[in-house]
Amino acid sequence: MALRPILIAPDPRLKEKSKPVEGPVTDEHRRLMDDMLETMYEAPGIGLAAIQIGEPLRIIVMDISRDDEPKAPRYFVNPEILWRSEELFAYEEGCLSVPEIYDDVERPARVKLRYLDYNGKQVEDDCDGLYAVCIQHEMDHLAGQVFVDYLSPLKRELVRKKLAKQRKLADEDEG
Ligand code: ZN
Repeated sequence: MALRPILIAPDPRLKEKSKPVEGPVTDEHRRLMDDMLETMYEAPGIGLAAIQIGEPLRIIVMDISRDDEPKAPRYFVNPEILWRSEELFAYEEGCLSVPEIYDDVERPARVKLRYLDYNGKQVEDDCDGLYAVCIQHEMDHLAGQVFVDYLSPLKRELVRKKLAKQRKLADEDEG
């Protein structure tokens, strides 16, 4: 396993649409998932899409277990949402590609999901709570969307300024 650098907004690669994994899930995909999981744990975060480390493939890793629970990694290849509830749920989201920005996003409270797991087996899952929030957030990345796209123009402008300031501080640190 290897740690991989996480792309930070507004990196243009984060706007790329990820491509489905064609054919079976291979050892190469599993190596990518292992790297993604290690990178996510190190960050630390609860979900990561492959495009966030620059790989435009429809692959997501996630672990929404609490700190006092054993680790419970989940792997999603070619996830598809089969059904969304009309009922909405608001959750304060953050993103490893948009550091230190948190804001409420409203999404369907429950979704039905189909995906291939780590071993390439097809699974269908009913998701709610944090699981539903996280999978929808990560699937937005596969479509080239970042959660701050949902915010009002005024809030987006504040986020843009904050990220620019963070970048400036990082540049000063480096040089
Ligand atoms: Zn994210």
